[in-house]
Amino acid sequence: MKRLPGTLRVGGGQALAGEVRAPGDKSISHRVLLLGALGEGRTTAEGLSDGEDVAHTLEAVAALGAAVVRDGGRVTVDGGRARLHPPDRPIDCGNSGTGMRLLAGLVAGLAGETVLTGDESLSVRPMDRIAEPLGAMGATVSGSGARCLPPLTVKGGRLSGITWTPPVASAQVKSAVLLAGLSATGDTVVHEPVRTRAHTEELLAAAGADVSVRDDGDGRVVRLRPSTLRPLHVVVPGDPSQAAFWVVAACLVPGSEVTVRTVYAGAERLGFVGVLRRMGAPVTVASSPGPEPSREPGSGAGSAGPVADIAARHAPLRPTVVLAGEIPSLDEVPVLAVAAAAAVGATRFVGMAELRVKESDRLAAVAALVGAVGARAEVDGDDLVVHGAGRLRHASVDSGGDHRIAMAAAVAALAAGPGQSRIGGFGCVATSYPGFVDHLAALGGRAWTPVVAIDGPAGSGKSTVSRALARRLGLERLDTGAMYRAVAWAALDRGVDPADTDGVAAIARAAAIEPGPGPVRIDGVDVTTAIRSPEVSRTVSAVAANPAVRAALVERQRAWRAGHGGGVVEGRDIGTVVFPDADVKVYLTASPEERARRRSDEAADSVARRDRIDSTRAASPLARADDARLLDTTGRSVDSVVEEISSWL
Ligand code: C5P
Repeated sequence: MKRLPGTLRVGGGQALAGEVRAPGDKSISHRVLLLGALGEGRTTAEGLSDGEDVAHTLEAVAALGAAVVRDGGRVTVDGGRARLHPPDRPIDCGNSGTGMRLLAGLVAGLAGETVLTGDESLSVRPMDRIAEPLGAMGATVSGSGARCLPPLTVKGGRLSGITWTPPVASAQVKSAVLLAGLSATGDTVVHEPVRTRAHTEELLAAAGADVSVRDDGDGRVVRLRPSTLRPLHVVVPGDPSQAAFWVVAACLVPGSEVTVRTVYAGAERLGFVGVLRRMGAPVTVASSPGPEPSREPGSGAGSAGPVADIAARHAPLRPTVVLAGEIPSLDEVPVLAVAAAAAVGATRFVGMAELRVKESDRLAAVAALVGAVGARAEVDGDDLVVHGAGRLRHASVDSGGDHRIAMAAAVAALAAGPGQSRIGGFGCVATSYPGFVDHLAALGGRAWTPVVAIDGPAGSGKSTVSRALARRLGLERLDTGAMYRAVAWAALDRGVDPADTDGVAAIARAAAIEPGPGPVRIDGVDVTTAIRSPEVSRTVSAVAANPAVRAALVERQRAWRAGHGGGVVEGRDIGTVVFPDADVKVYLTASPEERARRRSDEAADSVARRDRIDSTRAASPLARADDARLLDTTGRSVDSVVEEISSWL
């Protein structure tokens, strides 16, 4: 699974151009896996969402007894009712509300007890909306408190069909009820007052279920008779809610012209296009032959619905009124709120109560984002009103663990003109769109992982601070001192005289050095503890004064950055020589007494000698870069130092 940095910087002022293919639709991906588990035979799916949410559902169907094989972008699920059983361990749904609600529907039809758990954010999302109808069908779904919060225990078994009208428009509730209805006696009817995404009905029909759908005013009536499913063969189209980020970005960034290819184009998923058009954005939706399912003998005739290419160009936007029914899942509200912030005037999003129980209190999070990027937002009852200022400004924002807030913030940054924004908590984007940063770059936008350079003498607090800072920012950390120490250790171990500049340089050039995280290794030997010995401490500064050793290690440090994008890097010459372009440079100091106390494991004269050699050597001596911030850590808590450095970022 691709890792995304915990902190991302995004630059503005650059037009976006070109085309991307949105990642496989998350909603369809979950459903294909679940119907694949129930289908009698081998389901194949191409182009599934590569996010963590769907990976959790994939593991869940395997835990339930289906045989799952992932081969690159192609997944096969060998399923069948008789294979499925409640697993003996809880199923972890990760961050995914869809995963949990749909799985609850499926396992309600299995005799026995299944426990569904999730991460912190999922653990505060209400499950009463599925507990009620599944209970009415004969299952018992229990969670904690009145709103039935996860972990959920589902006792399944004999179910009877019901007629259900969800009080809140929800494709998840509809789908949970229909999945349970597959194994119920009698018909199951869901009457939704507002049409929500139709993937479950569409895929059920493709899998041969006895399902009928009838429009009823603004809503729809879905009737399902207990059915045996055929396996599906599906090519999953792109996710409209992910496409929306690029469509809005194209509208907002002057000079932009972007096409997002092969996006699922069912009407309930493209409401955001209508909203943007009302705002004056030139957005076109052209039906696309799309990713056609390659039919295989014996498989169900798979169709994942209509597919289109969506193209958008920059245009000045005007405010509008957005009704909840236009975008029933509300998934696109964060990025539409960014669009509204860039318009001049007030855009009202009507009936947004559901946003309070998404991956975060998304209503509050959207309002905070809008405020941070230079517009004003107010929550008026269940409405969100965005008073657009006509232009956006760069900001430092935190996602609060909500992937759509993180991506909407990136769009705001692209549109904020020259300059750069910082987005904290960006790593959660891996739940739904691991390729987001690659696509941003493919369209010509700039985003990067920041480098924080931390230099200073022995005992100034570099290691402690850089470790805590890396954790706080969700960044990798590189301890360059450990690399010099590893070379010094190898010289001593191999009997190479530290004064033999060529001999030591040869080690620095040739040895395989793993600086961590985890054990520090040189040529495969774990030297984590050995490099802290008094002998190595006494030798390392002479080794580090060798220009050829420095050249070799600096090259490796730059290669580390090329591989990681950025991170927190500590040493003696990081801000001056290794990464003179670091996003933040810090030079730590502390009083001599405090430094001596912190290095009590090393003789005082050894520390003093190291500092002297490090500061006076000819090759990149320890020095404060002109643009490094001086920070005296004497008597300060780690938290307060980390807080201060984070604020500089
Ligand atoms: O940071 P630490 O105390 O482990 O570093 C050990 C030694 O490595 C330092 O005293 C210094 O001689 C050398 N060093 C260096 N340049 C770096 C990091 C460490 O010269 N960037």
